[in-house]
Amino acid sequence: MYVALVTVGDEILAGDTINTNAAWLGQRLAERGVDVERVTVIPDRIEEIARVVGEYHTEYDAVIVTGGLGPTHDDLTIEGVAAALDRAVERNEAALSWLLEEGGYERDELTAGTADLPQGARPLHNEVGVAPGAVVEGIYVLPGVPDEMKAMFESVEAEFEGEPRYVARVFTTEPESELVPRLAELRERFDVTVGSYPGDGVKLKLTGTDERTVEDAAGWLRERVELAE
Ligand code: ATP
Ligand code: MG
Repeated sequence: MYVALVTVGDEILAGDTINTNAAWLGQRLAERGVDVERVTVIPDRIEEIARVVGEYHTEYDAVIVTGGLGPTHDDLTIEGVAAALDRAVERNEAALSWLLEEGGYERDELTAGTADLPQGARPLHNEVGVAPGAVVEGIYVLPGVPDEMKAMFESVEAEFEGEPRYVARVFTTEPESELVPRLAELRERFDVTVGSYPGDGVKLKLTGTDERTVEDAAGWLRERVELAE
């Protein structure tokens, strides 16, 4: 399963907020064997949301959009997603009933538009905050507030499935350039992908669909590099 993540928010583009939502979702999806192929940060602008979500909707099995939910002036994600699909935005009765009956809100406490979603969307209840999320045509719209986003993602997580992946990590003190021939041989011998992440030493990440192959590859490599403590 191939997925694109779209992060909506001027504050993320400006560097005021770090995009921890995309990092968290990326890890969760990778653990499920789902391939995240895009992470795109876009401004709070309806046309941009519609353009990017519309493009990814045709290219990937699912799109997860975070941020810009709710009824305030800079919350434009629902309108952008609806525009991408050429759908109207309308009050979602199921979302409204949930807020009144389960959420514990009074009707006059809710800002106008709180339960507005793209026509025909399945509402996702917000157990932590107010604004509901939505699923429509494989587009998952989640809140920006990290705790709200995580709780809502966990309610739909089972809908994201891929081939299980196994990971082994090898940390070495050697410079990356010296590892090149050994990594080439490793990739010839074993059916694994190899990520090489230099920093303080080099972190090597071996990933594959067969657990035994990944373990064998890691064992082979550990015997051939200077290991970090
Ligand atoms: P609400 O319904 O409460 O208005 P929202 O879905 O509209 O939430 P935003 O207004 O986009 O969310 O963002 C709310 C807050 O969540 C931001 O101030 C920011 O601190 C945090 N936030 C938003 N997006 C991210 C992100 N990608 N990573 C980390 N934090 C984020
Ligand atoms: Mg908001």
